Amino acid sequence: MRTPIVAGNWKMHKTVGEGVALASELVKASAEFDGCKVVLCPPFTAVAAVANAVKGSPIEVGGQDVHWEAKGAYTGEVSCEMLLDVGCSWVIIGHSERRAMFGETDDTVNFKVKAALASGLRPIVCVGESLQQREQGLTFDVVVSQVKAAFGGVPEDQAVQMVVAYEPIWAIGTGRASSGADAQEVCARIRSTLASLYGAITAETIRIQYGGSVKPGNMAEFAGQPDIDGALVGGASLNAQDFCGIIKATLDAVKQRQQ
Ligand code: PEP
Repeated sequence: MRTPIVAGNWKMHKTVGEGVALASELVKASAEFDGCKVVLCPPFTAVAAVANAVKGSPIEVGGQDVHWEAKGAYTGEVSCEMLLDVGCSWVIIGHSERRAMFGETDDTVNFKVKAALASGLRPIVCVGESLQQREQGLTFDVVVSQVKAAFGGVPEDQAVQMVVAYEPIWAIGTGRASSGADAQEVCARIRSTLASLYGAITAETIRIQYGGSVKPGNMAEFAGQPDIDGALVGGASLNAQDFCGIIKATLDAVKQRQQ
């Protein structure tokens, strides 16, 4: 059985003080998180302080992006070593906002994945189709090719360190989540793609999240699916009550699945 993972992508929200306040609230609730891995991904400026605030709790911290080079003249970028240095163990790579607005490509995603894994950071790699691609019947083609590109050249022993976040672009920040059945269909295809790369046994160990307008009220629909192992959460990760509600719904759904 895969342990579910719920990650909060705070995007460009929260000052250091606000981030520490939210992280501290979550630490207080974290006795309830047993059985679910919880990761917070603050903006770079708040990572060190949030990592310090969650120290000693089961909550882990990640960056929202990283550069693949170890150091150099890359104004505005941060390296894997820098993220590790301030307490990260995870990093989001290939979020659709970075693909759409900041020139992220399948190639740069793959460079970043390989650099992160080599450094010991665990990537959460985002894949997902646009509304137009869905309407054109291209969802599987797009997602399968993004998964293959992200995992390109990654050996099996490192692939198991990765998490894939299936995030249909049309569902992100829109309040219009996918249905559980549609998300399951795509996540099952992601798993079969991983099986074609690494074999069925390894593919069964890699966690696949759903992301896109997840709320406490709809999380059960996703976490109850056989190929969905948690969520990457944007807006609803910005307050403790909603984020804890999503974690609780995940744990409840997983318990039901096990019965
Ligand atoms: C995201 O940005 O990864 C995301 C899923 O956002 P939201 O939950 O706000 O749709």
